[in-house]
Amino acid sequence: MAMPIPRWAQTLTVALVATCAAGLATVAAREPAAEEPLAERVATIAAAVESYWRGVFRAAEIPYDPAAAVLYAEREVTDCGPATENSKAFYCPRDDRIYLADGFFAEAVVPYGEAGLIQVIAHEWGHHVQAQLGVKDDADRRAATDGGKTYDLIWELQADCLSGTYAAAADRRGDLAPRDIDGAIRLLYDEGGDPEGFGPGARGAHGTGAQRVRLFLQGYFGGDGLTGCGNLKPDGGTTDQPER
Ligand SMILES: [Zn+2]
Repeated sequence: MAMPIPRWAQTLTVALVATCAAGLATVAAREPAAEEPLAERVATIAAAVESYWRGVFRAAEIPYDPAAAVLYAEREVTDCGPATENSKAFYCPRDDRIYLADGFFAEAVVPYGEAGLIQVIAHEWGHHVQAQLGVKDDADRRAATDGGKTYDLIWELQADCLSGTYAAAADRRGDLAPRDIDGAIRLLYDEGGDPEGFGPGARGAHGTGAQRVRLFLQGYFGGDGLTGCGNLKPDGGTTDQPER
């Protein structure tokens, strides 16, 4: 039986396989509980994001393989190779795990408050969503022909958009205070910019701060399950072509 894959997922081709170091994304949650151990905070957010997407896929009658987050210190063995403390945050489609370096979180994410944690985790779950929809397969085929250099940006920006979609859902549940959204936006903006030595189309690029915030807000204001991030195109831009 043919699965009802959204049109955007059919057309989007992105690069990729696994990673997106430091790609941030968005959302959910309750009042900051700074005194709560980081591992518990991450587990709570991850469970909420997983529950959201599982429900979206169930409603769309699309098969969904569960994902989980792994917070590690220093080193971790993954099906996508070894993760180190410099790996920051990435999704491995081979084992459906989101790997998060606790040092990176403590230093670069926690300062943004609960929204920072939520944003990074939701962005990585966005990559899991892409993989579940078959985007990864298209990306792998594309990567085989162009080295995967062209499509990373749209892949990353779509994850930002999907994270905005999740943020909106958390907001509707009453889990997100206005300042949480602000924190997510600040984090996206601050983490924008191409990696040193790489252009906007290079593997590892995540887009400028403005692009990231725009796509996050696109998902936040227009997202609804799998339908809100559909105007991304496989040419590295969106219908309104974010500036490079
Ligand atoms: Zn990413």
